[in-house]
Amino acid sequence: MDLSYSEDEAFRAEVRGWLEDHLSGEFAGLKGLGGPGREHEAIEERLAWNRHLAEHGWTGVSWPAEHGGRGLSLWQQVIFHEEYARSDAPNRVNHLGEELLGPTLMAFGTKEQQERFLPRILAVEELWAQGYSEPGAGSDLANVQTRARLDTDGWVIDGQKVWTSNAHFSQWLFLIARTEPGSQRHHGLSFLLVPIDQEGVEVRPIRQLTGGSEFNEVFLTGARTAPDLVVGEPGDGWRVAMALLGFERGVSVLGQVVGFARELGGVVRLARDNGAIDDPVVRDRLAGLKAELEVLRWQALRGLSVVGGSDAGAPSVFKLAWARWHKRLGEVAMDVRGLDGLVASAAPYELDDLQRLYLFSRADSIYGGSDEVQRTILAERVLGLPREGR
Ligand SMILES: Cc1cc2nc3c(=O)[nH]c(=O)nc-3n(C[C@H](O)[C@H](O)[C@H](O)COP(=O)(O)OP(=O)(O)OC[C@H]3O[C@@H](n4cnc5c(N)ncnc54)[C@H](O)[C@@H]3O)c2cc1C
Repeated sequence: MDLSYSEDEAFRAEVRGWLEDHLSGEFAGLKGLGGPGREHEAIEERLAWNRHLAEHGWTGVSWPAEHGGRGLSLWQQVIFHEEYARSDAPNRVNHLGEELLGPTLMAFGTKEQQERFLPRILAVEELWAQGYSEPGAGSDLANVQTRARLDTDGWVIDGQKVWTSNAHFSQWLFLIARTEPGSQRHHGLSFLLVPIDQEGVEVRPIRQLTGGSEFNEVFLTGARTAPDLVVGEPGDGWRVAMALLGFERGVSVLGQVVGFARELGGVVRLARDNGAIDDPVVRDRLAGLKAELEVLRWQALRGLSVVGGSDAGAPSVFKLAWARWHKRLGEVAMDVRGLDGLVASAAPYELDDLQRLYLFSRADSIYGGSDEVQRTILAERVLGLPREGR
């Protein structure tokens, strides 16, 4: 495999040129906004940018043309995400719909569901949130207690979700709920599509350590959705929910690695400016991060080259590695920043980029499957060790 993907360099030039031309004027000020720990920033403006991308065919780049997507090859997708991150374009607001729900509807949805939802995801007209976690169901997701029953008008849902990113500005929630009374674990669950703007849904933002409120508690009290808004067969929701998680580790990880490189560059610049670079220990730690980042990039490429293949452990190894790397970057950043990094620079609680990076990166080893969960996957599915007792 040619990992320099040289035949696609013309495409790289096209993406880079488009981003340079369009990240200007009203959008110029959005550069760098909305990254991890900063999702609360400039939502309306980022939404406008996301719709601008859509108008020019830069949403759904991996989606096949039959569903309105751009149908890029795998390497072109890698290039798109790398160039997007390199340009410092703002984080897209619509990624849960575009990268998770869209592909799931293509695989499991009915024709009506696809026609109803996919065009609106592509056009960034409807935003989605993910209602999986509950107070008693995070790592142990099969412990979902939210219930749903079908009456004459449709599904009626009762329960509570938590850590629901973006629910406070989304129109729709995809969730898993127990639809077969008395069922246990991953049996008897269904995957439902639920409108958020209704009386039975209450969204309460959770204030985070970073000062922002990116995720929420969502209370469902007699919430309703139409009878045909179940994806896959009723009772078979676990399969759909797990397939959706499989899309989470897609091509965009290469963009993530480029984003990490930008963050590291910022820390190195600060170290040069404030003299911290003169400390050989700091230099050594920065050099270590740089070298490991290169390894991460190759790991990400390796993960893509074995999608659906034999290396079942690759996504878990990559998740463990990047979470560890990013947390260390946050720690080194604070050391470079020095003592004044311990206080917020403006009232009431306005943190700068490095402070946010440090605090938010603590969550990297939790979301998307915690470190312990990844190690359990590796132990059981790759090393063949005995399964943990439940
Ligand atoms: C920034 C962020 C955004 C999120 N966004 C969403 C979202 O949009 N939608 C959504 O549904 N969820 C979301 N989550 C929730 C996330 O999926 C959960 O936090 C995660 O699954 C862990 O679950 P938990 O928080 O209940 O912790 P728990 O599962 O209670 O785990 C607590 C600790 O115990 C460890 N642990 C748990 N079980 C085991 C075990 N069997 N063996 C060893 N150790 C174990 C864990 O590794 C962890 O360290 C988000 C989380 C974060 C941090």
